[in-house]
Amino acid sequence: MTSPPVLEVRGLKKHFPVPRSRGGGTVHAVDGVDVTIRAGEVLGLVGESGSGKSTVGKCVVRLLEPTGGTIALHGRDISHLSQRELRPMRRQVHMVFQDPYSSLDPRQSIGDIVAEPLRMHGGLGSRELGKKVESLLDKVGLATGMRYRYPHELSGGQRQRVGLARSLSLDPSLLIADEPVSALDVSVQASVLNLLMDLQEDLGFSCLFIAHDLATVELVCNRVAVLYLGRIVEEGTREEIFTSPKHPYTQSLLSAIAVPDPPLQRRRERIILTGDIPSPIDPPSGCTFHTRCPVADLPRCADEVPILRPIEASARQVSCHLVGADGTAPDAAKAAARI
Ligand code: SF4
Repeated sequence: MTSPPVLEVRGLKKHFPVPRSRGGGTVHAVDGVDVTIRAGEVLGLVGESGSGKSTVGKCVVRLLEPTGGTIALHGRDISHLSQRELRPMRRQVHMVFQDPYSSLDPRQSIGDIVAEPLRMHGGLGSRELGKKVESLLDKVGLATGMRYRYPHELSGGQRQRVGLARSLSLDPSLLIADEPVSALDVSVQASVLNLLMDLQEDLGFSCLFIAHDLATVELVCNRVAVLYLGRIVEEGTREEIFTSPKHPYTQSLLSAIAVPDPPLQRRRERIILTGDIPSPIDPPSGCTFHTRCPVADLPRCADEVPILRPIEASARQVSCHLVGADGTAPDAAKAAARI
């Protein structure tokens, strides 16, 4: 039996008005996203810069007010709760930010930063609080003496460990990890990712892992959702997405991953997409990917919006007119090579 969802997002929209002095219009940052995360699951949300991934994460923790749709946490709709009503729910969901430099208050000691959520939600005396902070620092691989230091005395990797300790201080059931290692040196990325995976396994929290680097998503996630211009274009298990991507956009993203085998790497066909991701102020008609898709079937792809629908009689979903219900899909690499 499948467990009830920890997080259920339906038809999420986040639009930002553009001031008239800057040309006016509306940025369609997120335009109808559905996401479900069950207990203990790690869902990777991937896409290029500007696809709306971080906006989805910020809406889920209600740092941004959604324009439309619903966000349910453990079955309770939190999409329009006031900040006061949200307070008890804030124990359940925490965010790890991309930039470990700006996400820690430079005037607070590490101990105070980690203790802040515990103080806000009350219930612990100062002695218990100190013990809890030390145990959290130990959990993320930092010496307990670090609690007396300040953020500027720490390396980037150590700061991100402090961010993780703070996020886990209230034992949340859902962690939103927004590009948690992309601002770190490559040499420390692996150790922070391994720590995140170990903590997830030990503590069993669910996670929305936002990233543009597919190699890290393959390492960390059970399921993957691919976002393009504020809409999910493909979703499936890690194996489905990485062994047989169906949507031409997913195929192009995967073709960019280098494999550690030079002869195989030389034989692989890289799909180079033309141009940048279009402006979310005026997204293309029909399938928003049609302006860059190597297999676009025009005019149909420019006129008809493809629906995200299940294929292969499984939970896997794709939104492309050319993907059959049995999973037959166009080969974007061959088409790109002909262009
Ligand atoms: Fe390409 Fe058309 Fe499929 Fe969009 S619907 S991904 S344009 S083939």
